[in-house]
Amino acid sequence: MRVFMLLAAMAVPALMATTPAPRPRDAFKVTWLGHAAFEVVSPGGTDLLIDPYLTQDPATPAADKDLSRYHPAAILVTHSHGDHVGDTTALAKRTGAKVIAPSELMPLLGVPQGQFIGCNVGGRIQVGDVTIHVVPAMHGSTPGGRPVGYVLTFKDGRSLYHTGDTWIFGDMALIQELYHPEVLLLCVGGGPYTEDPATAALAVKKYFHPEAIVPMHYGTFPGLAKAEEVRKAFAGDKRLRMMQPGETLAF
Ligand SMILES: [Zn+2]
Repeated sequence: MRVFMLLAAMAVPALMATTPAPRPRDAFKVTWLGHAAFEVVSPGGTDLLIDPYLTQDPATPAADKDLSRYHPAAILVTHSHGDHVGDTTALAKRTGAKVIAPSELMPLLGVPQGQFIGCNVGGRIQVGDVTIHVVPAMHGSTPGGRPVGYVLTFKDGRSLYHTGDTWIFGDMALIQELYHPEVLLLCVGGGPYTEDPATAALAVKKYFHPEAIVPMHYGTFPGLAKAEEVRKAFAGDKRLRMMQPGETLAF
């Protein structure tokens, strides 16, 4: 018995030495600020805001409406509608952040010269350790060019796709082929403007293989899809991550 215990004690360090430690991932952090607004912080600390509709968004927590809390390196705007442009201009003036948006939006935003980085579909922009790819969205943006989505690629090769406002479209297959996003920030709001939860679920099923699906652009106003409808459309999909406005997840 004593010999057995001795052998068992010796086996533990041997086992620990041979079991490979899980490889640490370079986590990026995603905070949902309500509607289509997100703050993304890369593993290297690059802080990006996307569609910062904050002070007027009924879903944004009070603490996140305080613009003095933000220090982004860049603000990304998907299209000209008020629920996406939001507080972009005020934040740009306050922080000096770059503003990345379809080029035609420049005169509408009134962002200080030198801070505006115009873009269009197919474009690539480097901000800190994040490569930003501009992809299509099936929506409107009049006046102010065409609507876009953004794929953020991190140094470890993983990526996050913010769809902007969109309906399902076949070229999502190309976004998967080119960037294979691990995290989808997915428009599911339905109503009169965008794809509804069931169509968004179909888009994921047909075109993507993400690790996490974060629905957005729902529940903000009457007429948009409610949280129950989103849950129902993605029922059984363990990748669904329903965030609360103000919540942060690390991926
Ligand atoms: Zn919208």
